[in-house]
Amino acid sequence: MSALLLRRARLGAAVRDVLVGGGRVLAIADDLSAGAPGLPVLPGDLEVVDLDGAALLPGLTDAHVHLDQWAAARRRIDVSAARSATEAAAMIGAAVRAAPPDPGAVVVGHGFRDALWPQPPEAVLLDDVLPGVPVVVASGDLHTAWCSTAAVHRYGLSSPTGVVREQEVMDLLARAAAVEVAVLDGWVLEATAAAAARGVTAVVDFEYADPVTSWARRAALLPGGPPLRVHASVWVDRLEETIAAGLRSGDPLPGVADPVAAERVRMGPLKLFVDGSLGTRTAYCTHAYPGVTGPEAHGLLRTPLPELERLLRRASSAGLDLAVHAIGDRATAVALDGFAAAGVTGRIEHAQQVRPEDLPRFAELGVVASVQPRHALDDRDAADQHWAGATGRAFAYRALVDAGAEVVLGSDAPVAPLDPWDGIASAVHRSLDGRAPWHPEQHLDLDVALAAASGGRRAVRVGDAADLMVVPEPPASVLAREGVAGLRTTEVLGTLVAGRFTHRAAALG
Ligand SMILES: [Zn+2]
Repeated sequence: MSALLLRRARLGAAVRDVLVGGGRVLAIADDLSAGAPGLPVLPGDLEVVDLDGAALLPGLTDAHVHLDQWAAARRRIDVSAARSATEAAAMIGAAVRAAPPDPGAVVVGHGFRDALWPQPPEAVLLDDVLPGVPVVVASGDLHTAWCSTAAVHRYGLSSPTGVVREQEVMDLLARAAAVEVAVLDGWVLEATAAAAARGVTAVVDFEYADPVTSWARRAALLPGGPPLRVHASVWVDRLEETIAAGLRSGDPLPGVADPVAAERVRMGPLKLFVDGSLGTRTAYCTHAYPGVTGPEAHGLLRTPLPELERLLRRASSAGLDLAVHAIGDRATAVALDGFAAAGVTGRIEHAQQVRPEDLPRFAELGVVASVQPRHALDDRDAADQHWAGATGRAFAYRALVDAGAEVVLGSDAPVAPLDPWDGIASAVHRSLDGRAPWHPEQHLDLDVALAAASGGRRAVRVGDAADLMVVPEPPASVLAREGVAGLRTTEVLGTLVAGRFTHRAAALG
């Protein structure tokens, strides 16, 4: 058995040696230079890396990403800083003039947040800046797309104003962002390498465009597969074909021959939607949205309870894990009701609003709250406006933890950067911009946030999967000395998945 000896690793207050082999942590002791008692390791097969007192921590998991879109967004025009539609259109015009696309190619922008814009986005603003050019701009939360008139015609969109929402956005982005499969695969693998360099050892990929097929293909592109574990989810529209194919959560994906790649790339959960989003005022809430009347005053219930219960039972009995998107408090309650009625458990994705009486139900039902702390910072103004009077129950991470819920952190990349340090920092200190923290009573302590970003692991232990990360010093020291900005930009020296380096800075030889 080949093995790796990490010498002089800081584990909490102690500096010790850590022996890794067969994908696991085999031994931890003050000095393993002479080998570990009872563990046969041939000297020739033992690689030794001296960490010289750097901290060894459990690797990080991003529990909610959209990898195709994140990979593409890293290459799209970023308009997230725009404070108005006019400003966003000007940013796109400037970017296109700086780097003209091929004639006829669609220009794709990303990241606008129009909840507080003085005027709504409209096709004409893009037409004025780039006459005749098809332009598609996705909102930061991916629930709205804003298009030029040329794009409205090219894609046959329902709205002459160029603004479309919800499912139409998903379909539009899948078409507008279409690049050659081989090109996109290359971008995605680059994005996973960048994630590994931030300490990420696992992601759950909630991409819309069939991640199971994509990852079965991509697993073969690199020896050993991608540089992190990927749990490829399946959306509810592919539930029946997934069951027919006999795929269960945790299974290797079909056709992956390389054993290391087959270990890394696995079938993930089923994803279902109960509601929409805050930014589009389609999150399903107890409070009505100010100024909104009619049937959607409380948002949009996409999957009513009886149908949710049926789907949860069906998927669970076929061996699929369950991930239910719910953002508003009524949606969260419906999701919890669905789990209870079906007698199954799973995760609620986002849980951005939770009624006080629902907080203990997470622990009672064993339901995991999969939250994205950066959203609380990016959406604080939108929440203050659209959820006026209900922000005490919004992004209530501390209340969830205090109620005994298991909380896991994610980015929802491309909504936020695929960087767990950004999520950890956002959970610890709920302000991005120098303003006072937003609902600071809902912050997480650093150790809690780190554990929530590490699949619940608080320390490196013998027997654990050797999914590990090396940082120069303990995060608490960084936070104490440099504050949250230092925490957010923590340097990662090394990352290991199943005991193999997936990222290794020069400092680690
Ligand atoms: Zn998402």
